[in-house]
Amino acid sequence: MPSHSETHGYQINPRDARELRRATLIVGMNPNLEPWLEAWAKANQRTDTLLWLYPEPRDHDARAPGSDPHAWTNPAEAKKMVRVLADRLAGISPEIDTENSYKQYVKEIDQVDLRLREWFAELPRERRAFVSQHANLGHFAARYGLRVPGTILTSSSAESADPSARHFSGLLALIRREQIKVIVTDAGQNDAFARRLTEDAGLPPPLALSFEYLEPAGRPGDTWLSMMLHNGRRLHEALRR
Ligand SMILES: [Zn+2]
Repeated sequence: MPSHSETHGYQINPRDARELRRATLIVGMNPNLEPWLEAWAKANQRTDTLLWLYPEPRDHDARAPGSDPHAWTNPAEAKKMVRVLADRLAGISPEIDTENSYKQYVKEIDQVDLRLREWFAELPRERRAFVSQHANLGHFAARYGLRVPGTILTSSSAESADPSARHFSGLLALIRREQIKVIVTDAGQNDAFARRLTEDAGLPPPLALSFEYLEPAGRPGDTWLSMMLHNGRRLHEALRR
């Protein structure tokens, strides 16, 4: 996934296809999140080389419990995924000490998890709720005792038609009722609806986060560890204000 791209509706280009055909192992998150990858693997008889790290939820409705494919935003789930990946890599390259790398990486995940827990634990109850652009932070919120009582987009995709006027007034009422101060948008996606919401509700401009892709190497957010800390820090700072 290139930086600043949209994961859900991504289209494989000829360069991607070339890379995928050469790969010994293709790692995906979930077929609901990356339907384009599943379609490519089926069409090219490469489902054997495709490893889904979080294969369970097949239901496309993001509101159904357990169906949110954005499980990598919860370090506890990420650790399970690293286990799955380590086992697969050990089978492919038995000469490499995968187990040692696995243990080292899990330690780093635990450190990130601890930092995030410390930050969000200090927030009072009334500062733990926010509205997000699409339903991608349920796993994150559950891990850190936060709440996402509403989303701007009602499908699980980050890219869908403009929400209705009725949804707008519903969200505005929710923001007032729940005393929500923070609207999170997906960096790089259309935030016109979110901006109108913050203006009408008298809130600061939307907070653009990027839990959906990694930044180019050398920038904050260029690895999963750094992406979690970078976005977590910014969300924490916005909530505590
Ligand atoms: Zn998403």
